[in-house]
Amino acid sequence: MSRPLFVFHALTGETPVPLFLAPRFCVAFMFGLGLTRVRCRSSVLGMAVTRSDRVHNASQGGYMMDPLIHTVLVRLGRQSYPVYIGENILHEVGHICRECGLTGRAAIVTDRNVGEYYGQTISGALANEGFKVSSHLVEPGERSKSFETAAAVCEDLARHGINRQSFVVALGGGVIGDLAGFVAAIYSRGIPVVQIPTTVMAQVDSSVGGKTAINLSAGKNLVGAFHQPVAVLADTSTLDTLGTRERNEGFAEVIKYGVIRERELLSELRHSVLNLPDLVRRSVAIKASFVETDEKETTGHRALLNFGHTLGHGIEAAAGYGRLLHGEAVALGMVAAAHISVRRAGFPESGVTELVKAIEHFNLPTKLSQQLSRGEILKKALMDKKFADDKIRFVVASSLGNAFVSSEVTLEDLEFGLTAIEA
Ligand code: NAD
Repeated sequence: MSRPLFVFHALTGETPVPLFLAPRFCVAFMFGLGLTRVRCRSSVLGMAVTRSDRVHNASQGGYMMDPLIHTVLVRLGRQSYPVYIGENILHEVGHICRECGLTGRAAIVTDRNVGEYYGQTISGALANEGFKVSSHLVEPGERSKSFETAAAVCEDLARHGINRQSFVVALGGGVIGDLAGFVAAIYSRGIPVVQIPTTVMAQVDSSVGGKTAINLSAGKNLVGAFHQPVAVLADTSTLDTLGTRERNEGFAEVIKYGVIRERELLSELRHSVLNLPDLVRRSVAIKASFVETDEKETTGHRALLNFGHTLGHGIEAAAGYGRLLHGEAVALGMVAAAHISVRRAGFPESGVTELVKAIEHFNLPTKLSQQLSRGEILKKALMDKKFADDKIRFVVASSLGNAFVSSEVTLEDLEFGLTAIEA
């Protein structure tokens, strides 16, 4: 399986350009399109390109102003891959798969909700590019992240003649990304996967980084593999079909990026009209920077992405899965972690206030319901955590935009954090 080649210093000096996009970029350049909207950040490839068909129209004098596709490159050596972000770009999937060197059959794994909205667009775009396409539907929801569902999908892939020359297209939220990514990691000892995330959380977080998993009765994500995608296509217009609550919960992860890396995000989220493609691009760039420095979470750097998640997972589990959405539980976990940070890392009270305002802006909870037992939350949160001298490793923030893993947090600190967010 070949991966896209990346040409560095092409055209723009510092900015790497995926080779297959370079000619399009040149054409866009010639037509004076988009250049004012090319954005580059230090750790990011904020490359903008224009769609080939529209550029073709332009050369025939029929150009229409086109939404730009942002590209963030996840730099992992030979495993590097592009993340394409834009509005109404699903139909580009055929070109992208072809340009990534994918051949053979495409197996779309999706759930019934997402399949109904976007399945045909994706299968049509792949078929137009000459791929033989099969669709494999699973039930929506966390229960599909199971051995049973993974086995059923594998059997279905085999029935449809999927082989080592084929690839998986994971179309859906984080559940599908994790399940289909896991299936791709184990089927035929590993075949390529293209991620097409359709929830806010999946676009800003889970589709990037290569973590795939299914659940056991003993806990979430206990079986899995690192399996990086060959490309990610995040179409922000797919977020329009999410319910308000489901859409809002995904912003918890963007808020988290504000706390651990880019504090401007917090005020921008509240005060600006949301530019979703740009927001997803910046979030993906932050996620990519953590993945690039600690792909398999061995140095502790990638662990900073867990800010708010230890207690958040405990709250989610104690409430009973499905009662609180993941992002809602993470929002509560972040406020508790912020209070603990005041105690343990000199995080300013004003930072807690700013965090709470950002969370409230998305109607996410900041106060813990009285019905949830603190003991139960801690039991669930600490199930797989190791204590050394009564202390655990816990992500704290020292200021907005700066976080680190502390080994000084005690059980009493965690209780304090939960007390601080009681209603
Ligand atoms: P989800 O995948 O369960 O999707 C939520 C619901 O929205 C589902 O019913 C789905 O059918 C529906 N849906 C999805 N996209 C839609 C759309 N565009 N329009 C209408 N409906 C749509 O939920 P999620 O929050 O995206 O993912 C949660 C999962 O992600 C968890 O299993 C979690 O463990 C995993 N996760 C993985 C990583 C990682 O790095 N791999 C990181 C964070 C979370």
